[in-house]
Amino acid sequence: MKLYNLKKTKEIVNFSKAVKLGLGSNQGLFFPNTIPKISKKKLKKLLKMNFIDRSYKILSMFIKSEISKKNLKKIVSTSFSFTKPKLKNIVKKISCLELFHGPTLAFKDFGARFMAQTLFYLNKKNHPITILTATSGDTGAAVAHAFYKMKNIKVVILYPKGKISKLQEQLFCTLGENIQTISVNGTFDECQNLVKKSFQNSEIKKKTHLNSANSINISRLMAQICYYFEAFSLVPKKYRKKIIISVPCGNFGNLTAGLLSKSMGLPIKKFVLSTNSNNTVPRFLQTGYWNPHKTISTISNAMDISEPNNWIRVKEIFLKNNWNIKSLGYGSVSEKNTKKNLLELFKLNYISEPHAATAYKVLKKYKKKEFFGIFLGTAHCSKFQKTVEKVLNISIKLPKRLSKYSKKKIISKNIDPDFNELKKILLI
Ligand SMILES: *Cc1c(COP(=O)(O)O)cnc(C)c1O
Repeated sequence: MKLYNLKKTKEIVNFSKAVKLGLGSNQGLFFPNTIPKISKKKLKKLLKMNFIDRSYKILSMFIKSEISKKNLKKIVSTSFSFTKPKLKNIVKKISCLELFHGPTLAFKDFGARFMAQTLFYLNKKNHPITILTATSGDTGAAVAHAFYKMKNIKVVILYPKGKISKLQEQLFCTLGENIQTISVNGTFDECQNLVKKSFQNSEIKKKTHLNSANSINISRLMAQICYYFEAFSLVPKKYRKKIIISVPCGNFGNLTAGLLSKSMGLPIKKFVLSTNSNNTVPRFLQTGYWNPHKTISTISNAMDISEPNNWIRVKEIFLKNNWNIKSLGYGSVSEKNTKKNLLELFKLNYISEPHAATAYKVLKKYKKKEFFGIFLGTAHCSKFQKTVEKVLNISIKLPKRLSKYSKKKIISKNIDPDFNELKKILLI
């Protein structure tokens, strides 16, 4: 598999290198040189397979011989060894694709676990590696748990202090061992910038074998392609020509994966994106101007991002396929409307959470006669317990996987959004 750097197209690397580097030079993201195409006949066969076997097939179409059949099978089955995605019917012709049945109850488990298993396998020489990543909430937990206790891999996670839920924080800031967590007195975008600066610093890069587990790492997105195929296979045959998928977006990794599945030949009719008030992309699609505002805190905090890293990949997909960017549906959902839609879902007998509620809201905008709508359930409602309880006026019991952590002590370091403070920590 060959990938090029979107900021320096002459820089071409193979899959292993792209996974190990995370980012290319000039902080460029890697993008596949060619996207494998699936014929109708092959698609039919794929759709009949179970989730793990099919996911292996899809990933091997990209990775080819770089990882042997046997090893890739093992990587995939270990990564996805939890309850597979479910398609939950909400009302007639609207369903939620529940992607939150993994160890940390968020869709990020798919990407983080696949990346961890792949990196561990590729690190044959057992070099010490440092994974540096910024999180707006769920990445931290997924990455920490995916890499927890892996030999020779140290994980450093930055997050905006006070801007993620207590429970989210406890889920990854209480582990210790090879997981170091740092709360930053700033926003997620500031955390992301500290990560980017570290990657530009040759001293840090050389001394720590730095890698990133953010969705800038292509392996995470590739893993996520697999559940779009699963979603499609779960839709009754008579509706398959009319599928519209609505994705709640932060860093736009999830949407990128969906669009990649479509590029491969999965016939999804339309993709729709939702954001909260951090709506750089909806404003861009409406006006043609890229004008990020200051990030603001919302109840869908994993989407509190105003400079989404993966947008450049989304644009590349449209460019390569000759698709019109105007075919992308979009909408930005206010705090008030997020709550309103959470309540509406509850009245339909479904307890959701703020991120999915934004996707549900925007999906309805595109409802028409010919339609089968899916919005992505990116996290389990209990991860946003306080908010959901307050809006719905109910009480939610924590699943055991979470309650285990709710009494543990947070052991994060605290820093200002100052690169030198981070540098000191990384070079210890
Ligand atoms: C990370 C996250 C998102 C945003 O996904 P991106 O791939 O960054 O666009 C949405 N919802 C939840 C619950 C998340 O954790």
